[in-house]
Amino acid sequence: MLTPRQLFLRHQAQTSDTPLLLEVERAEGVWMYGPAGQRYLDLISGIGVSNVGHRHPRVLAAIQQQLDKYLHLMVYGELVQTPQAELAHALHHTLPAHLDNVYLVNSGTEAVEGALKLAKRHTGRTELVSCLNAYHGSTQGALSVSGSENFKRSFRPLLPDVRHIRYNATEDLAQITERTAAVIVETVQGEAGIRVPENDYLQHLRRRCTEVGALLILDEIQCGFGRTGTFWAFEQFGIAPDILLCAKGMGGGMPIGAFIAPQAMMHGFKSDPVLGHLTTFGGHPVSCAAALATLRVIQDEGLLADVAAKAARFRSQLVHPAIRGVRGLGLLMAVEFDSYAVLKPIIDHALAHEGVLTDWFLFCDNSLRLAPPLTISAAEIDWACAALLRAIEHVTGQPIAQ
Ligand code: PMP
Repeated sequence: MLTPRQLFLRHQAQTSDTPLLLEVERAEGVWMYGPAGQRYLDLISGIGVSNVGHRHPRVLAAIQQQLDKYLHLMVYGELVQTPQAELAHALHHTLPAHLDNVYLVNSGTEAVEGALKLAKRHTGRTELVSCLNAYHGSTQGALSVSGSENFKRSFRPLLPDVRHIRYNATEDLAQITERTAAVIVETVQGEAGIRVPENDYLQHLRRRCTEVGALLILDEIQCGFGRTGTFWAFEQFGIAPDILLCAKGMGGGMPIGAFIAPQAMMHGFKSDPVLGHLTTFGGHPVSCAAALATLRVIQDEGLLADVAAKAARFRSQLVHPAIRGVRGLGLLMAVEFDSYAVLKPIIDHALAHEGVLTDWFLFCDNSLRLAPPLTISAAEIDWACAALLRAIEHVTGQPIAQ
């Protein structure tokens, strides 16, 4: 009899030679529990997913209610399914009036794919502009607009007519022109190591897009759904996108994503060709029920109001000579060290000896990822910071105060 770990290694496709290999039996709130009762504090929320914590009771209740009614019925866009319709309506209510039409998909990368097609369909243009070090997903369209040549090289040819500009560099905005169908940007860059917009970058970007008739697609797949302290991160910058993307935290632990646009624009998928964008499982009713409950939890339980104070509580405690700085917005943070060589043993030690799960970033390997469930308590933050500092001390040999 092979153990689950052996089966995982032998029969599940692997994406690296160094998977975490943590075995989790159950999870609750900010905690994950192993088969022998070990517990781990989840400081990364399944990479930005468990914003309302693992197995939030209201999310579980909504899933249970939907299980008793129906699962999949029909491909997207044909039948009236109440969980989909109510979710679309509730999403619209969190947004500026023009973002009134929701296309439900299964994941972040699918939201990107749908939005890129919609932008081409709507503008009749082909060029797509995105940022260096952006991560938008692993399917071929989303990969094309992602900004790491290292991740793309082996999979070319990808989409033609993609141009990359530097995030936060207003000088590069002139490269957005009348040829540009859309600019796709993360409101806060995630896998680049949490890069926050500076010097009115998003306002300049918004203005340039409007000037030349290019659509602005904001990818809030990682930074939306309350992560930064407002329901959507763009709210903090006084701008709005033409198309908004969400996924990850949206489902409260269930798979779902969406791209959201004005109805007149979305009508592009109804003709030339009819059925211009299709998905079998997009907007799965159980995922939609979970997403609606998640949205209500974020709105009703005061989670947004506490994000800034919780982030400040982390920042005030994460002080050590080896820490070069903390970047971030709300509970989407990066703690910078000198190098991966310093950081990796800290992450490993924190997991193995302190029961704290963290990570680094795809395109930034000297920074530690901090994105706990927004439900994390003050006591849990203090516990996590003490554990991380012990790990840093152990690995660097440097005490906290010098
Ligand atoms: N956009 C951003 C900003 C992301 O962080 C991610 C996932 N890390 C994606 C898109 C892709 O989402 P998914 O993994 O659900 O396809």
